[in-house]
Amino acid sequence: MTCAVTALTDSDYERAQGLAQEANEFALSFGMVRYSGEGRVVHLPISMVPCVSEASFVQEVQELTPLYNRLYYRVSTDLEFLEERLAAARRVDPFIANLFDCLAPTPIEKPLLYMNRNDCMPLREGDRLQPKQVEMNLIASALGVVASNVYRMHRYLYHGTPLQQHLVENDAADGLLDGLAAGHQVFGDSRAAVLFVVPPGEVNVFDQRGLECRLVLEKDVPVSRATLAELGSEGKLREGDLWFGDRKIAVAYFRAGYSPVHYDEAACWQARRLIENSSAISVPSVATQLANTKKIQQVLTDPADLHRFVTGEGAARLQRSFVRFARISDEIEWKGTRGRAGQVAARHSGDWVLKPHREGGGNNFFGDGLVRKLGEIGDEHEAFILMERIHQRPFRSVRLIDNRVHDGLCVTELGYFGVYLHVPGEDQPRLNYARGYLQRTKDVANDEGLVLGGFSFLDAVAV
Ligand code: ADP
Ligand code: MG
Repeated sequence: MTCAVTALTDSDYERAQGLAQEANEFALSFGMVRYSGEGRVVHLPISMVPCVSEASFVQEVQELTPLYNRLYYRVSTDLEFLEERLAAARRVDPFIANLFDCLAPTPIEKPLLYMNRNDCMPLREGDRLQPKQVEMNLIASALGVVASNVYRMHRYLYHGTPLQQHLVENDAADGLLDGLAAGHQVFGDSRAAVLFVVPPGEVNVFDQRGLECRLVLEKDVPVSRATLAELGSEGKLREGDLWFGDRKIAVAYFRAGYSPVHYDEAACWQARRLIENSSAISVPSVATQLANTKKIQQVLTDPADLHRFVTGEGAARLQRSFVRFARISDEIEWKGTRGRAGQVAARHSGDWVLKPHREGGGNNFFGDGLVRKLGEIGDEHEAFILMERIHQRPFRSVRLIDNRVHDGLCVTELGYFGVYLHVPGEDQPRLNYARGYLQRTKDVANDEGLVLGGFSFLDAVAV
């Protein structure tokens, strides 16, 4: 048995400084790339030393995923609960209201395929690192293919060194591939396609092409690509099935649609309605998207709401992964200050994050920005939630960003990719697993964590 790595040495960091060319060329060879604003293909930000973590922490993040899968599956099938808990947000947030308007008037009975990534930050509690959930990513849970290749790159760079055997395996690409192929299979028509729904001018194409190519070559599953606007204007319903061009659609796999900017034409909302009213399996469905809003994350920290869906040891483990949440109008107490949560958070602005019900990065308010925003919010306060800020101990990392080596203190988050497949009429899910991860690390000075936005970089884990 090998003992755990506890820290990297100075010589590990020095060696990493010299790996820039290898890392860049590995990235270009294996599609760890994106389009730049000028349409050039450039490497994604990547680490050149793995992030050292604790085995029990990584295992707990992985084991929490099926529990979260089941919880959110149950929430997304309880429309009455979603309507009640999101009623106030729906009144003040047009994006939530528009999503509700896309629900089919008579729900279509079809399989539910839920694919996600559950991002957690490590928080030291006594002698162990406890995962604290940042959020459940849904449509924005990209980069699985690229993350698997970052792990392979680290194995290559550290081949023959003691560190190599401590790297935590990452087979995220396989997990996503199997999930989509299983969805296609339960749809039951081998000629029907998996449709990748992408934003216009997508820069993160290569991560998607990796999945598309493997679906065709390894699973014999036809694939197609469309923007929401293309699907909304050209898609057709025929005898309950969704058709795009000459293809029947088995699964619509969303890589766009998490943000209001993706719905700049009425046709984009029409695309959502078409899918909801068809036999096509929507990944995610509108109900699943509503269930994964930050508002629902907040309400599930209320034990009464959580226990409606899960109880026992599973619920207790989920609760250990929650931090404090509040509505702006709640009365709370924090570090001796009592009052309206909005005022308490403004007083302790380093301890809170203000979030609208969005995914995709760049939407949240921290520190002085949080204080300013809280001052501006009027009647629309239900369009936001307050979340306790997770403070972790920074560690040193060396990474390659725009072909330049950076060395400095960082913080990190780990998310396992989750897949859950439920077929109507069956008691148990066909699939409920966590497979592969995204380790995203960022400079300690950055608040946000988006890789494609340049805030953070792709990492691998060693334990
Ligand atoms: P989005 O849906 O836009 O990705 P997130 O909730 O994931 O929103 O927040 C974006 C990033 O902000 C996270 O990846 C994380 O780096 C940082 N962040 C969010 N919530 C917290 C928190 N409670 N404590 C510390 N950092 C946070
Ligand atoms: Mg996120």
